[in-house]
Amino acid sequence: MKLILLGPPGAGKGTQAQALVESLGVVQLSTGDMLRAAVAAGTDLGKRVKAIMEAGELVPDDIMIEMIAERIAEPDCAKGFILDGFPRTVAQATAFDRMLEEKSLKLDRVIEIQVEDLPLIERVEGRFTCASCGEGYHERFKRPKRDGICDVCGGTEFVRRKDDNGETMKARLKAYHDQTAPLLPYYRGRKVLRTVDGMASIEEVKRQIGAAL
Ligand code: AMP
Repeated sequence: MKLILLGPPGAGKGTQAQALVESLGVVQLSTGDMLRAAVAAGTDLGKRVKAIMEAGELVPDDIMIEMIAERIAEPDCAKGFILDGFPRTVAQATAFDRMLEEKSLKLDRVIEIQVEDLPLIERVEGRFTCASCGEGYHERFKRPKRDGICDVCGGTEFVRRKDDNGETMKARLKAYHDQTAPLLPYYRGRKVLRTVDGMASIEEVKRQIGAAL
């Protein structure tokens, strides 16, 4: 199964991708996570992209295309993958099409998780993750069962993304509408696009994605 999750920042792509990893047994490829790891490790790539990410803008296409080309060539992608955060521009999508064609692979589905802008700002401002295992939480929608303790690993340290603030969010939403939303007609034309209601509960969105697959 080769799947793309499309949607604005905070739509729930990461949450749904994690659920799909369990149900489909394929890997999640989050370009945002890969870039954050590079920034945290202080690599050359990390140094190049840090300020761009903090401004809520998009990293140049050539960097992203090379990153995904290398990643999907790894053995754990042979069974399939869920792309979360890539492609984000039409140039990335056409390059990705060529990559698949070269490997005689076919994209199965593109799932759009649809959410209006206003609730997205509230969503990203409240989210945080466990510093040890990366489990995602939210101040209002998904608090740990015991305050300050991760449900999954028992960790007690939590982190927030630097770009999860109102100001940067405006730039991220603008990037989505200007550069990523044109992918919707692109994939609709290829008859692989399905849309789910990202305002529904996590369980209901999971169900709708299951039905769309
Ligand atoms: P995300 O975790 O998907 O919200 O990504 C966080 C940030 O990483 C974005 O705001 C961009 O700066 C950068 N980024 C992630 N994926 C891409 C991509 N496919 N193209 C360009 N920039 C990206």
